[in-house]
Amino acid sequence: MSERIIEIGTAKAAPGEVSRGVIPVTSLAGGGSLEIPLVVIQGARPGPVLWIDGAIHGDEPEGPLCCQILLREVAATALAGTLVLVPVINVPAYEAACRGNPLDTFSHDMNRIYPGRADGYLSERVAHAHATWLTKIADMEISIHSGGSHSFLAPAMFTDERPESVELGTAMGPGWGCMMSSPNPKGNPMAAMAAAGKVGITVEYGGRSATSPEAFAKVGRVLADAILNVLRHYKMLPGTALYANDRTKGMQEALLAPASGLFLPEPGVAFLTPMRKGDVIARIVNLFGDELAVLRAPASGMFFGLRALPNVTTGDWCCFFNKVEGPRH
Ligand SMILES: [Zn+2]
Repeated sequence: MSERIIEIGTAKAAPGEVSRGVIPVTSLAGGGSLEIPLVVIQGARPGPVLWIDGAIHGDEPEGPLCCQILLREVAATALAGTLVLVPVINVPAYEAACRGNPLDTFSHDMNRIYPGRADGYLSERVAHAHATWLTKIADMEISIHSGGSHSFLAPAMFTDERPESVELGTAMGPGWGCMMSSPNPKGNPMAAMAAAGKVGITVEYGGRSATSPEAFAKVGRVLADAILNVLRHYKMLPGTALYANDRTKGMQEALLAPASGLFLPEPGVAFLTPMRKGDVIARIVNLFGDELAVLRAPASGMFFGLRALPNVTTGDWCCFFNKVEGPRH
């Protein structure tokens, strides 16, 4: 009898087994190892490999929380196929609670440098080690992001325009109707997956202002429920998958602060709620309350993210806007 062993870095799981391990990258000056922790849950029955990634940005702890909920709740005995959980891709950034690795000032944003380089800057080497295993083993990948230390993001996602990518996004289920198109992804894990002829998507939820005890727990629960729905959609877990009935297709526009000051969202504005071009989203005022700038909707659509750190400097991210083109079928 030949059993299919799934091996990723030092993790090794036979059918029905759960294995924890690491993808080794390099060692650090103090003698410690730089590695990427992961868990392989190989189902008792065959099926696709779904790979979940968290914390490519170190100030986004929502992916790690989601992964540990899934590790508790997905039993290998019930699973068809394999679930790979990478709670934290960018470990030094996560330890520092920074977007990028403070040890690497040359390739700070790890979500822009895929597939990395084996002989590149430190973060490029991490990306290369991760991308090598990811594209070899995974059929589908979901990269979990949030608003990090600067913003709060409502549930939203980026897919490319291939039907299999849109299908993976749709499988996230109810509450995940804000679907934006990233037709030619570059530099991120979904780009590495697309280049390998596979499928990856980027999902967003949570961030600053949603890390109080109840809010953070809710974000983790919502993310884990969405991944469980994905597992049901692909028949990797028993049960019926559900779908959002308000799916829209759009393109992201990230609005940058036109002035420095205090960022004040307009009273009554709401996430994921249709707006018209020119509607006021927020104002930036100086120390005395004088208005310096007004942030307006750049098109018809909805915002899914707002700056949640009110201190703002010209050029900072202020609003993540979905320019809605129409319903997503
Ligand atoms: Zn991110």
